[in-house]
Amino acid sequence: MNYVLVLNCGSSSLKFAVVNAVDGDQPLSGMAECLGTADASINFKANGQKTQQSLEAGGHTAALSALVAFLQTQEALAQNIIAVGHRVVHGGEYFRDSLILDDNAIERIRECSVLAPLHNPAHLLGIEAAQAAFPALPQVAVFDTAFHQQMPDYAYLYPLPYEHYKELGVRRYGFHGTSYRYVTGETARLMNRPANELKLIIAHLGNGASVAAIRNGHSVDTTMGMTPLEGVVHGTRSGSIDPAIIAYLAHRLNKNVDEVDAILWKESGLLGLSGMSNDCRTIEETAQNGNERAILTLEIYSYRLAKAVGELMIPLGGLDALVFTGGIGENSTLIRERTLSWLGFLGLKIDSTANDAAIRGKAGKITQGEQAAAWVVPTNEELMIARDSAELAKAEVKS
Ligand code: AMP
Repeated sequence: MNYVLVLNCGSSSLKFAVVNAVDGDQPLSGMAECLGTADASINFKANGQKTQQSLEAGGHTAALSALVAFLQTQEALAQNIIAVGHRVVHGGEYFRDSLILDDNAIERIRECSVLAPLHNPAHLLGIEAAQAAFPALPQVAVFDTAFHQQMPDYAYLYPLPYEHYKELGVRRYGFHGTSYRYVTGETARLMNRPANELKLIIAHLGNGASVAAIRNGHSVDTTMGMTPLEGVVHGTRSGSIDPAIIAYLAHRLNKNVDEVDAILWKESGLLGLSGMSNDCRTIEETAQNGNERAILTLEIYSYRLAKAVGELMIPLGGLDALVFTGGIGENSTLIRERTLSWLGFLGLKIDSTANDAAIRGKAGKITQGEQAAAWVVPTNEELMIARDSAELAKAEVKS
């Protein structure tokens, strides 16, 4: 009885997996896409087989009904699901931990929609549909922001008028917290040291990218801010820029603030710099063929990442390990090598053989020497959500 149905709802998509909360095994997974459009469909991967079906323009409710119907064909598995775990991007200042959802918590998530207008409303659709589809199961929310809620005020406040923090919630929240929590535990296990004695910097480099400083198992600062736009270079997002650029572009391009905002979110980062793709693999291939813009894009990415690592050493007062995770962190030997080339002064000297070996889900230490080390540690947000959900569901049964 250790399975959790993990749901990650976007505005037009729903990713799902039935996850064994003990070993991370996923006997069923899949995704519904194009929800609310004529092309709405859902695919299932179970027992090594993939199937797809149309949802006939249905939305999140139709997707969950199809999932319930599919689970009815997998009776033994369905009977062992003890909770539904929802990934929720923004928990504002309300949530420091995962919790079993009740009306009050759902209302708080709704309130946080102003801070994450693309994500939280979609999560609420998924939560409502899951409550209807699985009325007997506890519904758990696991927040991307929760792990960073213990950041000190001097780290999370922006130098803006203080009332904008008090009245409008303008402050740094940080994201990728579920991943950071998982990777912190895994890194401590691999280093054979207790997490509460470690000074870690973890770089979660996916389509969205961020870096966090973890001291004694807690996040003390991170590069993402009020939204997941701030910080290092992302796939299509700019990361940190001079804020005056927004007004400048609006005037020069005769665009309104929303249109300029869309440039920062959707047309910048690796995509904007390279002019070809937000996919790091494509840029690396093009760079290998001598394309100067691709080479420069990767250099900017690595340089900004190394600068973020340096900055985050301030709250740590030292470093035991720099950890790479996420699609790029786990697979790009080049980005790791270029980033570490800036950090040699910390004693981080790359071990090229180990760096080449740590790809496609393999963890490992990728530097030589006994001082601070760099590691690759694959993340597993689904497993972290499953663990939290199973723990809360079991505690509820006991109480
Ligand atoms: P994620 O959001 O964590 O799934 O990561 C997606 C990113 O990982 C994309 O930008 C991919 O290009 C990148 N990625 C995946 N595999 C590789 C690879 N072998 N080399 C470089 N980047 C990769």
